[in-house]
Amino acid sequence: MKNKQSLLRDLPSVDRILKSETIREKLETCPKSFVLKAARMAIDQFRCGIIEGDSPCPDTDEIVSTVMEILQGISGYNLKPVINATGVVIHTNLGRAPLPKAVLENVSRIAEGYSNLEYDLGQGRRGKRYAHIKELINDITGAEDCLVVNNNAAAVMLCLSAVSGGKEVIVSRGELVEIGGAFRIPDVMLQSGAILKEVGTTNKTHLFDYENTINENTGLILKVHQSNYRISGFTGDVPVDRLVSLAGKHDLPSMYDLGSGCLIDLRPLGINSEPTVRDVVKSGVDLTTFSGDKLLGGPQAGIIAGKPEIIGKIEKHPLTRVLRVDKFTLSALEAVFMIYADMDKARKEIPVLRMLFTSEEALKIRARRLASALKKAGLRADIRTGRARTKAGGGSLPECEFVTWTVSVLPEDISINTLEERLRKADSPVIGRIQNERFILDAMTIKTSQINSIVNAVKRSLVD
Ligand SMILES: *Cc1c(COP(=O)(O)O)cnc(C)c1O
Repeated sequence: MKNKQSLLRDLPSVDRILKSETIREKLETCPKSFVLKAARMAIDQFRCGIIEGDSPCPDTDEIVSTVMEILQGISGYNLKPVINATGVVIHTNLGRAPLPKAVLENVSRIAEGYSNLEYDLGQGRRGKRYAHIKELINDITGAEDCLVVNNNAAAVMLCLSAVSGGKEVIVSRGELVEIGGAFRIPDVMLQSGAILKEVGTTNKTHLFDYENTINENTGLILKVHQSNYRISGFTGDVPVDRLVSLAGKHDLPSMYDLGSGCLIDLRPLGINSEPTVRDVVKSGVDLTTFSGDKLLGGPQAGIIAGKPEIIGKIEKHPLTRVLRVDKFTLSALEAVFMIYADMDKARKEIPVLRMLFTSEEALKIRARRLASALKKAGLRADIRTGRARTKAGGGSLPECEFVTWTVSVLPEDISINTLEERLRKADSPVIGRIQNERFILDAMTIKTSQINSIVNAVKRSLVD
C-alpha cells in the first residue's frame, strides 16, 4: 500500500489533463480559462480526498470526467430563466415582473446601438435623459411632473433627502413598514438626514395626531402604503387628501410612498382597497413614489410623480445623478407606459395584469391541460387538479386572495422534498411549493407554452 505522499505525487498535472483527447476537443468550444479552472478544481478535489481519507490515486480518465462535470456547472450562465409554478405573480426572488414582448423589443432596439438618450435631436445639442418619458408618465398618472430613479427605495430616499432638509418628517406609527431586503422606513429616514417623528399608535392614527406634532421644525408629512401587511380590527388611518389639506394649511410639503403603484382599476377583481396612482396624484399630494416592477408590471424603477417646483428641486440634488437609470430601464419604461395609454391593452399585454385578470375558467383549463399531459407521460405519481387561492406577492395587495387552479403531484417512489429539490436544480428549473404533503404547480403563473417543459422536468425528476 502506497503512502499518502506518493499517492499525491502520482496525481496527474494540469498539463497532462489538458492533453487528454476529451479536453482537447472541449477546448475548441470552451474558453481555456474555464477549462484550466475546472482542471485545478478537479485535481484539488482528488488531492483533498487523498489527504483526508484513503482514496486511491485516480487515473487521468477519472479526473477528466470530473473536469467535464465541473465545466458543465461553471461554463453556463448563473442567472437563468426559471418556470414560476408558485402562483405568486410578483415574486421578488424570481425577478418580479416578467416584461411584455413589445417592451423587450424596444430595449433591444435602443441598447444594440446609439440613441438620443441625452441628445436633443431638434436643437442638435445636449438633451435631457428624462425628457423622453416625462410627458407620457404625466399623461397616464395625471402628474404635472415626474422623475425616474433605480427603484422605489431609491425614490423614497432621494425625496426625503431633497425635500425634508434635515427637518422632522411626520409618519404614522401604523405605517413604519419594513419591506423585504432591509428597507425600513425608520432606517431610510435616518440615512436621508431627516428626523423621524412618529405619531399615533400602531392601530390608530388621527388627523389631530399629525396636527399636534407640527412645529417650526417640521419639514414634511409622509404617508406610507402598508404594502405587505394589514392591521385589522379597531383601526384607522388618515386618508391622503386630509393630510394634503393639513400640510397646505401649514405650508408644508406632503408625500405618499405608494409602494406598488397600481395604474389600473382593480375593482373588477373585487379589490376596492388599492388606490390607483392617478387617484393619489389627484388628491393634490406633492410627491407620489412607486415601483416600476410591482403591480405596474415593468422594469425595476422608482417613479416620482409630483409638483414641478419640488421635482425641480429633487432633480438638482446630487443623489439624483447617483440613482439615475440607464437606457435599458428608460426604454423599457417608455414602452410599458405606451401600453398603458390603452388600459384594455394593458390588461391583456402586461403579464402581471394578464395573470391577475385571468378568468377562473381559463385557469381551470390550463391546470387540467397540465394534469392530463402529466398523466399521459405515465409517471409513477398521483396527479390531481384542484381549486386554490394565491396572492399577488411582492408586497402588493396583502389582504387580497385570488382564486386559482393547481395541479398537485404525489410521487410513488421518491419523497416530495426530493421532487421539489430535483425540479429546483433541473437544467430548466421549475419552482413550485409543497402543501398538504403534495407538490403543487399553480396555473396562475404557468404559461401554456411551458407545459411541455414542466412535464419533461417532472418525468426526469421522478426517475429514482
Ligand atoms: C416595495 C416598496 C418599496 C421599495 O420599492 P422597490 O421598488 O422594491 O425598491 C418602498 N416602499 C413601499 C411602501 C413598498 O411597498
